[in-house]
Amino acid sequence: MSLKIDKLSAAYGQARALWDVSLDAAHGTVVGVLGRNGAGKTTLLRSIAGLHPRVQGSILADGSEIRGLRADQIALHSVALVREGGRLPSSLSVVENLQLGQRLARLRGKTGRPLTEIWKWFPILEPLQSRKAGLLSGGQRQALALASAFVAEPSILLLDEPSAGLAPPVARELFATISQLAASGMTVLVVEQQPAWLIGLAQQCYLLEVGRVVDEGPVEKLIENAGNRLM
Ligand code: ATP
Repeated sequence: MSLKIDKLSAAYGQARALWDVSLDAAHGTVVGVLGRNGAGKTTLLRSIAGLHPRVQGSILADGSEIRGLRADQIALHSVALVREGGRLPSSLSVVENLQLGQRLARLRGKTGRPLTEIWKWFPILEPLQSRKAGLLSGGQRQALALASAFVAEPSILLLDEPSAGLAPPVARELFATISQLAASGMTVLVVEQQPAWLIGLAQQCYLLEVGRVVDEGPVEKLIENAGNRLM
């Protein structure tokens, strides 16, 4: 499924957080959104997912307008948001969280991926099946958040800073999985503060500054153009 955003604006009360943001993500690609703290990255993802109340512009998922739909309706359009820190129902076990995802898959008219497939994609979760999500480490929780989204067979996956708080080897493993998920046909929009993680992962990147897209292209080009403005 493709994602096309045109002239998206969002505000908190009188304060604008996004101005005329446009971006394209083709089917099965990884697109990165870079920007410093407060650039508007989370607001962008929340706007796409229907979690931000005051949004203008257009958000097309495979050509159909989803801007203005409720968050649950957008989820049924097979758009999944994995929040920063992998927020999940903490009193539910790993398996129970994944079963919630399978239920969502059925609401989407899909079958939901079997847990045996999940253990192959996310081997660190298999020995933790009965562990409550609230007792997982940061990396385990992030993997479960991604797995819970994946089990529900989304077509568009929105990832908010998947590397946040993770040790580099753990983050590396997670990004390798994200790359494989895209190769399997999922469209991924990933927000990151650290551009290095997008090298070799994202086919196209956008740089946000104070709510506006100020550059776009391959991540290497953005890093070269932006220098220390990215850090
Ligand atoms: P970070 O990398 O720190 O998470 P970000 O790029 O995701 O930052 P946003 O969280 O989208 O940025 O914030 C964009 C702007 O909107 C900032 O100026 C921020 O202060 C403002 N903002 C975010 N959430 C709210 C809110 N609930 N109420 C008012 N203003 C907000």
